[in-house]
Amino acid sequence: MTLTVVNPATEEPIAELPRAGEDETNEAVARARAAFSAWRDLAPHDRSRLLWTLAELVEEHAEELAQIESQNVGKPIAGARGEVAMVAQVFHFYAGAVDKHGGETIPVAGGVAATFREALGVVGLIVPWNFPLNIASWKLGPALACGNTVVLKPAELTPLSALRLAELVLEAGIPEGVLNVVAGPGSVVGRRLIEHPDVAKIGFTGSTDVGREVMRGAAGQIKRVTLELGGKSANVIFEDADLERAAAAAPYAVFDNAGQDCCARSRILVQRSVLDRFVELLVAATGSVVVGDPADEATEMGPLISAQHRETVASFLNGEPLFRGPVPEGPGYWFPCTLVEATNEDRVAREEVFGPVAAVIPFADEAEAIAIANDTPYGLSGSIWTRDGARALRVARALETGVISVNSNSSVRVQTPFGGFKQSGFGRELGMEALKGYSEVKTVFISTDP
Ligand code: NAD
Repeated sequence: MTLTVVNPATEEPIAELPRAGEDETNEAVARARAAFSAWRDLAPHDRSRLLWTLAELVEEHAEELAQIESQNVGKPIAGARGEVAMVAQVFHFYAGAVDKHGGETIPVAGGVAATFREALGVVGLIVPWNFPLNIASWKLGPALACGNTVVLKPAELTPLSALRLAELVLEAGIPEGVLNVVAGPGSVVGRRLIEHPDVAKIGFTGSTDVGREVMRGAAGQIKRVTLELGGKSANVIFEDADLERAAAAAPYAVFDNAGQDCCARSRILVQRSVLDRFVELLVAATGSVVVGDPADEATEMGPLISAQHRETVASFLNGEPLFRGPVPEGPGYWFPCTLVEATNEDRVAREEVFGPVAAVIPFADEAEAIAIANDTPYGLSGSIWTRDGARALRVARALETGVISVNSNSSVRVQTPFGGFKQSGFGRELGMEALKGYSEVKTVFISTDP
């Protein structure tokens, strides 16, 4: 049984790999288990040094990794380079975090209580296809820093960068068995990781539907889970915003990665008093997004990941949109940048499209903006555009979302926690916060009685 890996911009196969199944998963877990105690017991400085070396190797091989990611996902090469740069930063950050993630001493009667942050053991990491290496690194960095060993399951469509990373891990001097990559179907490899009694935790990023299955499966063994799931984020534009800046930025907050982004601000909420002016600016800005060959340095948006996914994205559209951009002719799973007018009740505003489709939704005032933004089962990200600082803070506090930016559409930084409210999941990635999800707190009491 093999896995055929396809370039979505050409529809041509780029690799043929053995398709892993249950046996390969069991073997990987056994290797990770055998490697665990030595990795956990390594002096913190040594573990840190090895992660630092890995970060340097990622930097050294940045162009190669960016090319792999661009060809396998159809990402514009400029964006892929930025993502690989972040992967190196993530490993640098967690190399530094190894010996800064300590416990505390707590005043108690009759002795001393201290807490320790213990490694969990073997962790199973299951990641999606939209940012394959980036998202893998967000989990791997803290997991390895805490002394866990890992079985990583990349998405079937995009296993190539994870397999190359596994080679760099060995080249860095990280012992065999600490990272094991198993490329196979979620329903087989993913499921086995969830059920396997030697896997202590599942770090999952993917859809909310599969997230539900992960949580259900993990319940049997009270297995730890972190779930980074879907989103339907709002980009809220108030009438006092710098409309030119907000409109120029809005397309990239949806169409980046062809909309295949859990943080996509795919609901653009605009105050009615400035709706016409904003839409005019937004249409012009969307029309200038450069769609085409991902290998071209100037390209800003590539194709969707697969023909099947393109059908799903298309199913969200009916009637004439506000705007539909151009797409290249010939092979490739292309889909145009599309703007639609909608209410928050429409399917396009309720469900995650995961494609380059944005819904423009008007609102009357601040209270209505907050109500609409929160009227969704998701709560991952979002933006507020206003020149009123008090309003920015008031609305930021009122929105039910894990990450929010003001006068910006960025969601992710190596140093800051990232994750969702509501059905966007729980647990946090990145920053020092992520280390909590890959360690267990142990309390030790030492009597000082004579
Ligand atoms: P998906 O849920 O279909 O798959 C994610 C991973 O889970 C893949 O590796 C897949 O093989 C595996 N999987 C599938 N079925 C499984 C099962 N039954 N048991 C165990 N594993 C299984 O998601 P996708 O289509 O690859 O990615 C898109 C989704 O990911 C979107 O919903 C997006 O919002 C979400 N996402 C979330 C974040 C975040 O940080 N919150 C980031 C990126 C993507």
